[in-house]
Amino acid sequence: MTIAANLGWPRIGPRRELKTALEAHWAGDTAEADLLTTAAALRAGARATQAGLGIGHVPSGDFALYDHVLETALAFGLIPDGYGWSGEGPASLTTLFALARGARGSEIEHAAGVAPDAPALEMTKWFDTNYHYLVPRLSDATKPRLLENRWAAAAREGLAEGCRTRPVLLGPVSLLLLSKRGDGGDPLDLLPRLLPAYAEALRGLAEAGATWAQVDEPCLVTELSSRAGEAYGVAFDALATAAPGLQILLATYFGGLRENLGLIASLPVAGLHLDLVRAPDGLDAALEAWPTGRWLSLGLVDGRNVWRTDLRAALKTLQRAAPGRERRLMVAPSCSLLHIPLSLAGETALDPALRQRLAFAREKLAEVRTLARALDEGEGAVGAALAESDAVRREVAADARLRDPAVAARLAAVTPDMEQRRSPYPVRATAQQARLNLPALPVTTIGSLPQTAEVRRLRAGLARGALTGAAYDAEIRRLTAEAVAWQDAVGVDVPVHGEFERNDMVKYFGERLSGFAFTKGGWVQSYGSRCVAPPIVWADVTRPAPMTVEMAAYAGSLTPRPMKGMLTGPVTMLQWSFVRDDQPRETTCRQIALALRDEVQDLEAAGIAIIQVDEPAFREGLPLRAADRDDYLRWAVACFRLATSPVRDDTAIHTHMCYAEFGDVIGAIAAMDADAISIETARSGMGLLRAFEVFDYPNEIGPGVWDIHAPRVPSVDEMVRLARQATERIPLRRLWLNPDCGCKTRGWGEVRPAVENLVAAARQLRAELA
Ligand code: GLN
Ligand code: ZN
Repeated sequence: MTIAANLGWPRIGPRRELKTALEAHWAGDTAEADLLTTAAALRAGARATQAGLGIGHVPSGDFALYDHVLETALAFGLIPDGYGWSGEGPASLTTLFALARGARGSEIEHAAGVAPDAPALEMTKWFDTNYHYLVPRLSDATKPRLLENRWAAAAREGLAEGCRTRPVLLGPVSLLLLSKRGDGGDPLDLLPRLLPAYAEALRGLAEAGATWAQVDEPCLVTELSSRAGEAYGVAFDALATAAPGLQILLATYFGGLRENLGLIASLPVAGLHLDLVRAPDGLDAALEAWPTGRWLSLGLVDGRNVWRTDLRAALKTLQRAAPGRERRLMVAPSCSLLHIPLSLAGETALDPALRQRLAFAREKLAEVRTLARALDEGEGAVGAALAESDAVRREVAADARLRDPAVAARLAAVTPDMEQRRSPYPVRATAQQARLNLPALPVTTIGSLPQTAEVRRLRAGLARGALTGAAYDAEIRRLTAEAVAWQDAVGVDVPVHGEFERNDMVKYFGERLSGFAFTKGGWVQSYGSRCVAPPIVWADVTRPAPMTVEMAAYAGSLTPRPMKGMLTGPVTMLQWSFVRDDQPRETTCRQIALALRDEVQDLEAAGIAIIQVDEPAFREGLPLRAADRDDYLRWAVACFRLATSPVRDDTAIHTHMCYAEFGDVIGAIAAMDADAISIETARSGMGLLRAFEVFDYPNEIGPGVWDIHAPRVPSVDEMVRLARQATERIPLRRLWLNPDCGCKTRGWGEVRPAVENLVAAARQLRAELA
């Protein structure tokens, strides 16, 4: 019988119960026991839902209170000093949350021995998703051992309710490859000490009654060093013999195996999971390399996007794989369902035709089950489901709303000169200086100013109908006017309007463009308790009317200084949405770029002399494989240029990127040809500027001199010091002074003095350098 399997389930809960429980606990309103009770109830609900959908292999141990990478590291004793772990026994929740969020200086932390200034672990994106994991920090002193068999506990918890689950462990090699060592050593050095702990964990699973364990090794879809390749051999030799009777499913996802297939086929595991959504063409090679006597799990249902599966096509693939493997096949989503919303059930406000085309986690598992039955019982057994899938595809093909001939014609008419400013940067810089007459080291901010309780109240009032649109607009204008007057008084050279009218930098624009749809409760975990509800791009994108011009012009009318216009860039709009899969992402991105191009032109016509087009997600769109990167960078850069190039020489285009490892994409960032870029550098103490040393970035840069993510006000001296470091690397006339991100999460109590200090720092440096 074909097994319907799942690899991982969203943790946050149908109504974001985990978020509520975590935040209540952090606020000190609830005890640990309350949090743990909520967590157990969420796990029980997840098991019941999945089993109810007919899933034979229900995952367990995939739940995490904050992050599965951190919690795996904690279970294996990979815990840095200073966070209150005594060196014996399981780490406490206090230690877990101090590592995740940084020390808060609370009584409880003090009693637990957490250092008052212990910083949060570094957080970074989980492969090419918008989920963030905490990077385990290792050192030579790290002594891996099993402190807590959280997987065996999860297996027992399921069995106690009559549900035999498949525990999911992040594999030892990926765990180390995702970790960092503070002492410069190679994390893989720890492998020999880590493997016995993993072996013990697997033995514990067998004792707990598990028959399968899923070991996730997503790093197997990336280019591996020869050392990492060897590590895989060593690791799986050790794990395979650890617990006789326990079968290991090696799970790969987010890409194809390509040159690693030979290595993987040599690993002594019982089964292999393939992501056939990302890498459908990898199947034939895998069928050849993977012996029929071993299990194959086919990831045929997209775990990264929200569209219904083409069941007919998926079934064909399944049937192609089946010969000789009839009793050793699993059907599954391509990856964990962590990355999509939980259920369509509450989405009653969506366009009914669109809703028909969607499948969230629940609906995806129903598809998995349908495919398994179709193979075992014949197509007739699932005839209705197949017919529905076919009907949806026909509808999509016939839906005139998806394809606007005017958009296609406009895209086809794009010429290379439309992706090209009129003159090269040096000519533009002269024209802009003549128009703007800015001092050296001009001071600006990244766009948003504090989104205070008042702003949130106004927005809630509008949503409830307690406030009319006109009354809301008037209040937002009042806040904007106050913010502009304040910036003028402080002496900010290039003021911003403050973005008070924007809830979210993608949603605000998506709501004003055609082709975007929004869910009511389509939450996806971003990190910890933070969730996002990405919009869905389902049809061709156009801009029915100007989106930001009125507000920018109004704000600009209040000050003699050049008001900066603010837009979210095409790549970020794409990256932070669920994107239609009936055309290349590049095409959708170009459509968004054309819509933004119109906005850029309208802003210029309204007298806005500096337009910032934010691209914080530019780096995260980079493909996992080096071989695929050039193509992405080609179209991502082209889309930014298409959006920003129509302006005159004396109109300045700025862009902003947040945290990013710029080193490997700096050439592409330069090719975007923005007149100025602002980037995060404060947290790394200007470390990120090193990339700009190796590569001579030709245009202007605003390295952030104030870490906006920390709740503190940097002094004038501190900012002067950071700026001086920047002046050593970048010519003065190409430097700006700014914070390293938008100020929306900070309060005015911090923003006011910090911006005053920023202006004072600029004045001091100008005087020194004059
Ligand atoms: N302009 C945006 C802001 O200031 C940029 C946000 C971002 O970088 N994520 O909020
Ligand atoms: Zn930012």
